[in-house]
Amino acid sequence: MDKLVSLCKRRGFIFQSSEIYGGTGSVWDYGPLGVELKKNIKDRWWNAMVRSRDDIEGLDAAILMHPRTWEASGHVAGFVDPLVDCKTCKGRFRADKLEDARCPQKPSKRPGQADQCALTEARNFNLMFKTYMGALEESASVVYLRPETAQGIFVNFLNVQQSMRQKVPFGIAQIGKAFRNEITPGNFIFRTREFEQMEMQFFVEPGTDMEWFDQWKQMRLEWHLSLGLSPERLKFHQHTAGELAHYARAAFDVTFDFGGTLGFQEIEGVHNRGDFDLTQHQTFSGKKPEYYDQVNNKRYVPYVIETSVGADRVTLAALVNAYREESVEGEDEGRVVLGLHASIAPIKAAIFPLTKKDGLPDFARNILNDLRKSFPVDYDETGSIGKRYRRQDEVGTPFCITVDPQSLTDQTVTVRDRDTLAQDRVDVTQLHAYLTNKLAR
Ligand code: ATP
Repeated sequence: MDKLVSLCKRRGFIFQSSEIYGGTGSVWDYGPLGVELKKNIKDRWWNAMVRSRDDIEGLDAAILMHPRTWEASGHVAGFVDPLVDCKTCKGRFRADKLEDARCPQKPSKRPGQADQCALTEARNFNLMFKTYMGALEESASVVYLRPETAQGIFVNFLNVQQSMRQKVPFGIAQIGKAFRNEITPGNFIFRTREFEQMEMQFFVEPGTDMEWFDQWKQMRLEWHLSLGLSPERLKFHQHTAGELAHYARAAFDVTFDFGGTLGFQEIEGVHNRGDFDLTQHQTFSGKKPEYYDQVNNKRYVPYVIETSVGADRVTLAALVNAYREESVEGEDEGRVVLGLHASIAPIKAAIFPLTKKDGLPDFARNILNDLRKSFPVDYDETGSIGKRYRRQDEVGTPFCITVDPQSLTDQTVTVRDRDTLAQDRVDVTQLHAYLTNKLAR
């Protein structure tokens, strides 16, 4: 993880937020390459969930919602973690996660295990960030930064269903920021206080819910595989009765093996929420979120299958999955490669003129300007070709295109594959089709 954090900073993927002031606790900024990587992941999700289906509609609900929303959802009363403080080291820990924590003064022990530890009784700590709406800081105007995007979907269930004339079963999907004042954030962008969720609520007729639950569980696993995450690093974790959240009838996590001390951790939750949320909103708002099934002439409150995945957590999984160090035959220096799936790589191809002379840069720039209409591409004319390859390998660029003196005479260039290191001589007029074909795989 340390190597990855340093690469992410050095190569413009992820920076600590407000770094010049010493950083904000567990909040991160995405740099030029990071924003492209995360955007590609979000686009793939949006395409899979919304654009390629007739039965899911998109939504972009506001972060600030009516405070009653969070009473209805159970977050005001129940979105709490048990917190303990250590009077000796002033450390703060989750009482239910002490096994995973380390004593800051004696890292070989967990909090409470070393002689000098003095843990307080556990007390409940609400994870929602509070702020005030309007000019007066009085309790009547307290609002919350949403801790999940899902509630924006529930309160819009009828708006979307009626405006889009959707019939159950159908879903609503959205991507947006969520905020949690986590007690023990950390592990880079794994657990942060500000993050992005990609959530989809699928509304189904009661009785058909378990069938849909199984289907969504499978479809979501396949989506992670389509990002290039290794099958052996992905597995399901089924929630036991004791682990189930208050709203859930059944739940599976998709977990990813982050390696090291983290091991397998949740990256996505697939939940059968029953009619908990819609019924709660009915109770608190007095509005009936009932669906009228015209064909069978019946009314009911649909059940909900939810798929909830963190964009940042998947970004981290993709980075961990992709990072490798390898030796190169015939060269002393090894290389660091981000073997990102081509569809999420921030730069798809880099164009290099072999030298800065004889019109090679102009030739290369013409290629750059042509390709950039279709793909994010980069141009580099500094340093040896070997160094330029290394720079692109490290940020996951799948193809490097070199323009050499022969290019000027026969209009061909060399295309080098990041993973196989194979080099093809390609006609410039065929370059666009060549890349399109390779990137589509
Ligand atoms: P955890 O047990 O890890 O705290 P959770 O069960 O509370 O997660 P959910 O409420 O189900 O998580 O949220 C759905 C998804 O949102 C998670 O699978 C994860 O990818 C992402 N997520 C949740 N909390 C955070 C966070 N603090 N930082 C980054 N991503 C998060």
